[in-house]
Amino acid sequence: MYNYDIKIVYGEAKMNITDLLKKTAKEQRDALLNRDVSAVELVNATYENIEKHDDTIGAYNSLCKEKALETAKAVDEKIAKKEELPKLAGIPLALKDNINYKGYKTTASSKILENFVSPYDATVTEKLKANMIPIIGKANLDEFAMGSSNENSAFKIVRNPWNLNKVPGGSSGGSAAAVASYEAALALGSDTGGSIRLPASFCGIVGLKPTYGRVSRYGLIAFASSLDQIGPFGRSVEDTAMLLEAISGYDRWDSTSLNLPVPEYSKGLDKDIKGLKVGYIKELFGEGVDPDVKKAAEAALQTYKDLGAEIVEISLPLLKHSIGVYYIIATAEASSNLARFDGVKYGHRTENAKNLLEMYTKTRAEGFGDEVKRRIMLGTYALSSGYYDAYYKKAQQIRQLIKQDFDRAFEKADILVSPTCPNTAFDIGSKIEDPLSMYLTDIGTISANLAGIPGLSLPCGFDSDGMPVGLQILAPALAEERLLNAAYKFETATEYHNKKVCLA
Ligand code: GLN
Repeated sequence: MYNYDIKIVYGEAKMNITDLLKKTAKEQRDALLNRDVSAVELVNATYENIEKHDDTIGAYNSLCKEKALETAKAVDEKIAKKEELPKLAGIPLALKDNINYKGYKTTASSKILENFVSPYDATVTEKLKANMIPIIGKANLDEFAMGSSNENSAFKIVRNPWNLNKVPGGSSGGSAAAVASYEAALALGSDTGGSIRLPASFCGIVGLKPTYGRVSRYGLIAFASSLDQIGPFGRSVEDTAMLLEAISGYDRWDSTSLNLPVPEYSKGLDKDIKGLKVGYIKELFGEGVDPDVKKAAEAALQTYKDLGAEIVEISLPLLKHSIGVYYIIATAEASSNLARFDGVKYGHRTENAKNLLEMYTKTRAEGFGDEVKRRIMLGTYALSSGYYDAYYKKAQQIRQLIKQDFDRAFEKADILVSPTCPNTAFDIGSKIEDPLSMYLTDIGTISANLAGIPGLSLPCGFDSDGMPVGLQILAPALAEERLLNAAYKFETATEYHNKKVCLA
């Protein structure tokens, strides 16, 4: 395990800020309300930690210091006046760099958007502002959220804080690594096929992909619009629940947004789960799963049993087709969504084009990285006339059948569990030349996006090298309360979340 040394002694704080940075958002809030520390001190300490470590970790593409300190100051003023505060006011957050934040760069970790400054706020960004949550910076990602290791960023890789030779998972690798290395207490990511749950699992934290439509996608740079969802990362289930509450809700700017009330997700977490039917997905405990991962996930089933849950076996026979279906639907949608980056309206434009067509082709050839180009080509092929029925239409039909598999599963079980990923974090460079093996890391996560259901990953153990293992919990659409309740019960019955990256 990598040990690094931070000593932050800050201002007038009555509390050791180094310790506080490692705490949950809830604990940080208590410290703010007790006046042990001010929000400005907390934000400044976070920036000092970033300055010390982020050259190594690479979690942030850019920082948003001025506004973050402004927000923190406003929080301190409210505390001084004893005014009521939103639940996460003053708590440092990392925002994935494919989510717009007005006045700051939003690059999607792509050269084509390297100098693009957001002209407006995403709806989630507006909600963060309304909740007085300081946005520390824009978190690194795989280019346009395409990848599972964060190695596809056009700017820099992200290192896993648990072992700097390993990947943090992707595509929201910067968001997860920021939370795991105390460079933020909270983060937002996006999940199209696992991009929140996978990095949460590799970095030993909690990450949640909400039900499709629960959180507005307005202002998220679209990858595959029928699969994309923004969601929260935290160091605890409760923090994750509070952040989900802050960002959820109807938005008229997103036509797929659900017009339904938002429950108070952080209430009722401790409800007894006696009799809860926990289904384990047989196919995800079988062949190809690393033995350490399997052991940890099986131990998790025992924990649920001990908590009074009933364990049932579930089979999702079509799961084996989920990766194939995803790589047709996601690439098809991506090829259409990314058509807008042509040098006319957004970002990079080539300098030496002789005519319009050459301007388009050179701009795109220069601006996009290899993986993005691969996806655009695959997607364009799948949508082309003559192949549309054979690939795209068929993929949509199988998607429907996968959804039905889940409907049947949820008749027998209240929640479904599995390892989030068949393996733990792998070495940097070990899969990047082999896209197929990289795509396979998402076998556990992708089907939830195809079905539109919520999924969460939380720590459930460590492999023999000390790398975190994640447990995935899935629930029916809009059953986030049940999902969080089951996760919270597991968390409080175990100690895995208490082991943290060692910042000596
Ligand atoms: N790893 C998957 C992909 O590369 C999922 C990415 C995501 O969820 N954004 O497409």
